[in-house]
Amino acid sequence: MDVVPKAPLHGWIEVITGSMFSGKSEELIRRLRRAQIARQKVQIFKPLIDNRFSEDHIVSHSDMRIGSETVKSSEELVQQVHTDTEVVGIDEGQFFDPDLPAACNTLADRGKRVIVAGLDQDYLGRPFEPMPQLLAIAEYITKTLAICVVCGDPANHTQRLVVSSDRVLVGATGVYEARCRHCFDPHLSGLRMAEG
Ligand code: ADP
Ligand code: ZN
Repeated sequence: MDVVPKAPLHGWIEVITGSMFSGKSEELIRRLRRAQIARQKVQIFKPLIDNRFSEDHIVSHSDMRIGSETVKSSEELVQQVHTDTEVVGIDEGQFFDPDLPAACNTLADRGKRVIVAGLDQDYLGRPFEPMPQLLAIAEYITKTLAICVVCGDPANHTQRLVVSSDRVLVGATGVYEARCRHCFDPHLSGLRMAEG
């Protein structure tokens, strides 16, 4: 019997993370476009929760867009990925369930390049699960920074501008803004709530 060498697998995980408006979606779209230009088979997913701009596209705040599929869970995401898909893009990773890191591992182990974009912190500056777990197992990490709207420094935080203690409050301009370490005030929405 001839020994047939196994085809090498080339899977890995890339994470793009930072505050809102830091260019995560732009960077994700840029990488996925290049893969499409290289004629690789690409599938792009976002969680059901994020229908802010479009149901079937990932849309950046600068209006870059790319077609996407919507899934309810990490399990559904893995099921939707075709055998011949080479690159899997995932936006809004922080809105997925705790099984997202395991799902990404499964896909990378099957030889797929998995690229995930997501917020690393919530509106109080706490690590936003499951992104920390994903960062721990990723081969490549890109940290993106926005511009602080108060002072112009690089911004690592997402400032919530409205009163709410819900961890997930979907919105963009007017609801959140980018701020640096010094201008970020995690208690702002709580203070306003107490005053109001
Ligand atoms: P993210 O996915 O990280 O929320 P996007 O890729 O959707 O970011 O949008 C990035 C774009 O947002 C920038 O290219 C710029 O046009 C716009 N933008 C709005 N406010 C800011 C800000 N404070 N700092 C940087 N970019 C901003
Ligand atoms: Zn600042």
